[in-house]
Amino acid sequence: MTQTILRKHLMGRISADIVSVMVSVAVDKPYSYRVPDGMDVCRGSVVQVPLGPRKVMGVVWGEPKDQVAHNRLKDIDLAFDTPPLTDELMALVDWIAKYTLAQPGMVLRGVLRSPEAFGEDKPIAVFRFTGELPDRMTSARQRVIDVMQDGFAWQKRALVGETGVSPSVIEGMVKLGVLEQSFVPPPPIVQPPNPDHAPLQLNDEQKAALELLREHKPDEFGVSLLDGVTGSGKTEVFFEAVADCLRAGRQAVILLPEIALTHTFLKRFEDRFGARPGEWHSDMTPVQRARMWRSVARGKVQAVVGARSALFLPYPDLGLIVIDEEHDTAFKQADRVNYHARDMAVVRAHLAKARVILSSATPSVESRNNADQGRYAHVKMLGRFADAKMPDITAIDMKEDGPEKGEWIAPKLAREIFSALDKKEQVLLFLNRRGYAPLTLCRDCGYQYQCPDCSAWLVDHRFRGVLQCHHCGHEVQKPKTCKECGAEDSLIPIGPGIERIAEEAARRFPEARRVILSSDMGGIVAARERFEEIARGDYDLIIGTQLVAKGHHFPKLNLVGVLDADLGLAHGDPRAAEKTFQILTQVTGRAGRTGKAGRAFLQTYVPEHAVMQAMVCGDREAFYTHELRAREAAGLPPFGRLAALIISATEHDVAFGHARGLAVMAPKAPDEAKLKLFGPADAPVAMVRGRHRVRLLVQADKQFDLSGYVRYWLNEGPKVTGNLRVQVDIDPMSFY
Ligand code: ADP
Ligand code: ZN
Repeated sequence: MTQTILRKHLMGRISADIVSVMVSVAVDKPYSYRVPDGMDVCRGSVVQVPLGPRKVMGVVWGEPKDQVAHNRLKDIDLAFDTPPLTDELMALVDWIAKYTLAQPGMVLRGVLRSPEAFGEDKPIAVFRFTGELPDRMTSARQRVIDVMQDGFAWQKRALVGETGVSPSVIEGMVKLGVLEQSFVPPPPIVQPPNPDHAPLQLNDEQKAALELLREHKPDEFGVSLLDGVTGSGKTEVFFEAVADCLRAGRQAVILLPEIALTHTFLKRFEDRFGARPGEWHSDMTPVQRARMWRSVARGKVQAVVGARSALFLPYPDLGLIVIDEEHDTAFKQADRVNYHARDMAVVRAHLAKARVILSSATPSVESRNNADQGRYAHVKMLGRFADAKMPDITAIDMKEDGPEKGEWIAPKLAREIFSALDKKEQVLLFLNRRGYAPLTLCRDCGYQYQCPDCSAWLVDHRFRGVLQCHHCGHEVQKPKTCKECGAEDSLIPIGPGIERIAEEAARRFPEARRVILSSDMGGIVAARERFEEIARGDYDLIIGTQLVAKGHHFPKLNLVGVLDADLGLAHGDPRAAEKTFQILTQVTGRAGRTGKAGRAFLQTYVPEHAVMQAMVCGDREAFYTHELRAREAAGLPPFGRLAALIISATEHDVAFGHARGLAVMAPKAPDEAKLKLFGPADAPVAMVRGRHRVRLLVQADKQFDLSGYVRYWLNEGPKVTGNLRVQVDIDPMSFY
């Protein structure tokens, strides 16, 4: 990390005290500012600068690019006392902006925090007993003195908690000279992890995997795909790679897809390394985040576990990035800056000369292809740890053996549930759809309840008595009479959501202790408590959405019923088969994690589909072979590139007209680019939050610079005016 001092570097140029600053707002390039006398900045310095009437955060990006007269420039307001951003992190910002077509200022905004993050930790006030006694002793004062006899320094809040006196008693004792207030640095945000604290004895397969991972040296770039079935012990293996990284004196970050998984994960980390890692996720307060940011920047945090945005923390010397459940679409951010954290992790590691471990039981087709091609090391773990076995999977053909009218659980699955419950085994019923029913209509007039602002049905959430739009969150109380024809009690639910399955389960298995888990019910803390209760065996029947599908270890669970295995297949999404394969593997993988072989049943209308066949035969290779071949034939990722453009406006004609204008202006590309343009067409969800959405999709050869092409196209194309908006999504993951 060379931080060139610009003042020296720039001697003899336009002027020694002008620098370019990237501000963290929606701008395309850095602006020039004067460095006032007495201020020392270098490339990477975090500063505050005036921008129009505002003060904004920014980073000194380098030498000035434009030749603006010295006297027309503004001064940098202040330079924060935080270590400069590393070249590597700044290069990452530039790279992401270029690739995703986001404005670099907006990418930088995801790296910086509020100004509180850039200072020192605030000292904390503590109190000590001076030995002086008050003239008048009260029982409250006596209690404080008793507690403080130990000679330690106490924080006010702790003292109040311990003695039960009011804060004013303590303040009074300070005035009397009985207590003395002083300031001390706060304790470190985390203790350093110890790579040798409690390593597990690895089994042979794990040892072999670790050896392969170690073929990449700790100070070299390299990517490994840790491809192992659920329960094969991948976590323990990548923990050893984390330990190697810590021993080499570099930082490690582990990205998780789901905040609900963080808690157990932190615990496992602590067991292994004797200290908690730094945490980074949406459940933290801004103050906690600011403190974590500056602790990382100052090299006080060696390991971080967090959500995708933890990738952008200012590690001084990042050595390892682990992406757990790398196939998970939660790593793709889809607002403001459209980036995929997995892909950006590879970019950052390349810039930082660091290693990447992509861990998954169901690798993305992209990563799997990179491994097949030898770009990534392919580390396979195909046995389950200890005596746990892979589940036995059966498809239930809903055309032949479907449930009775008004029920959703097929007779065959119901029989299995009865027999599992008899044997005191846990059962999971899985349906990836929140609410009671996806559609409500009036029996009398046929009116279908729709969101006023989106082209989406309102989902019946019966437990809460509301109809809700899953696109914009719009909610209405469920009406007693049809709002169209006024008929009374005429609304009927169509199709099942998880709440409806719970209702059926209550009716058919009244004896079973049941729990329902869905992301809209109760928040993180409640979910965490439920997970612990399930693991303890407090429930017989678990009814859940994808919240339960991921990562949890439920030792007593032995039977999984997937109520609608086809749910992911219906859309015009080129990754539909892959996503379905992944979720089905994850959820069926919950069964039989210790000892007995678990069983899983898939209710499907297409048992002959390649995904269902691969599931039933337990043949993941067959799935990847089939899927890779299909993608190659269609020129889809990873064999080709996609870019999606969503053009939206409050008027349909405006959006469509602009999209058509763009399509007409699409620049010609050379033949070898294999460029294809689809659309414009109304998006599958044609309206969201009152905005009409029109899509264009561009497909190109893998070698073609599609980002550069789209940038050129948009620059040359019709101007974006009024409330029009053009959103670009390179490598789109969703197609709604
Ligand atoms: P995966 O991440 O591949 O799904 P885990 O790493 O969660 O698998 O391991 C599955 C279970 O096996 C966990 O409960 C874990 O603690 C246990 N386990 C894995 N490896 C070992 C080991 N070497 N020694 C003891 N327990 C292990
Ligand atoms: Zn809506």
